[in-house]
Amino acid sequence: MIPNDYSDVTQQVSTGSLPAKTRVEELLQDAYERYVDVDDGMLAYYIPILGEVDPSLFALSLSNVGGTVQGVGDVGQSFSIQSISKMFVYALVLQELGHDTVRDHVGVNNTGMSFNSVMAIELNDGHPMNPMVNAGALATSALMPGLTAAEKWENIREGLSAFAGRYLRMDGEVYRSESRSNERNKALGRLLKAHGQLEGEPLEIVDIYTRQCSLKVTSHDLAIMGATLADGGVNPVTGERVVSADVCRDVLAVVAANGLYEKSGEWLFEIGIPAKSGVSGGIVAIAPGKGAIGAFSPLLDEAGNSVRSQLAIGHLSRALGLNLFASAPQRPEKET
Ligand code: GLN
Repeated sequence: MIPNDYSDVTQQVSTGSLPAKTRVEELLQDAYERYVDVDDGMLAYYIPILGEVDPSLFALSLSNVGGTVQGVGDVGQSFSIQSISKMFVYALVLQELGHDTVRDHVGVNNTGMSFNSVMAIELNDGHPMNPMVNAGALATSALMPGLTAAEKWENIREGLSAFAGRYLRMDGEVYRSESRSNERNKALGRLLKAHGQLEGEPLEIVDIYTRQCSLKVTSHDLAIMGATLADGGVNPVTGERVVSADVCRDVLAVVAANGLYEKSGEWLFEIGIPAKSGVSGGIVAIAPGKGAIGAFSPLLDEAGNSVRSQLAIGHLSRALGLNLFASAPQRPEKET
């Protein structure tokens, strides 16, 4: 279940802007203190090195579209970006190939199944379904410009670095650990190829994908990367245009529908903003036109979403007035 215990937090309605810096700081601190002692969930043991991470790590960062970044907890701790990379690679590919081509190749609809489901491919005539599950992410990375695998990978690294506003490096240990244990992703790549739904050599594409998942980020990086999508595609810290405003709109729609895999509907119902998670414990949640929250805590629920990150973002969404679906009447109600 997506957490929904926010009954003591007044639901703020979206006003178009975030509160002042001091208020944001108070709310970040409050969210941190509320959940710092929660120790539910499991590490991502299926990638052996992720099973060795300190489960007590917890960081919350928020970047607004003016480029102010605030945070609390282990904000300097780096971790591998994992599935959150899917959202940014998707943005880069949309920028290059456009809305229609990418929609036809990769899809936009939720599978209702886990992020690494083989069944989802088989039940959908070999279609990868959407770019936020592994099959769709492989299909997306395959579409990245570049004549060779090495060129595609460099373009991905450069593009994600532009979102972060700094050069992102790979975590070699995570890359090697996942490369030794990713038989399932190799199977997904081969299955897509067998269905004619993957450009290029499947094992090369899986390798590019494994590299992009191992890029090291902090919660601050995630907040800035997300805030770039909240800011019409301009990185609010560096001022660089990374993708177009149309691309941001398309990405956020797909992330709202699929960012938390089979839990995406519940997440929208309870929390009400697009968010993307990764199995190392990161979640980035985006409030269009306002900014983004980057959260990190390694213990995961059964769908692979960080437990504490979900709780803290839920709290902040309510207290900061981020829920896209919350409104209040413009005029006072008439007495009857
Ligand atoms: N690299 C991971 C995998 O492919 C990413 C999954 C995730 O973060 N949900 O299994």
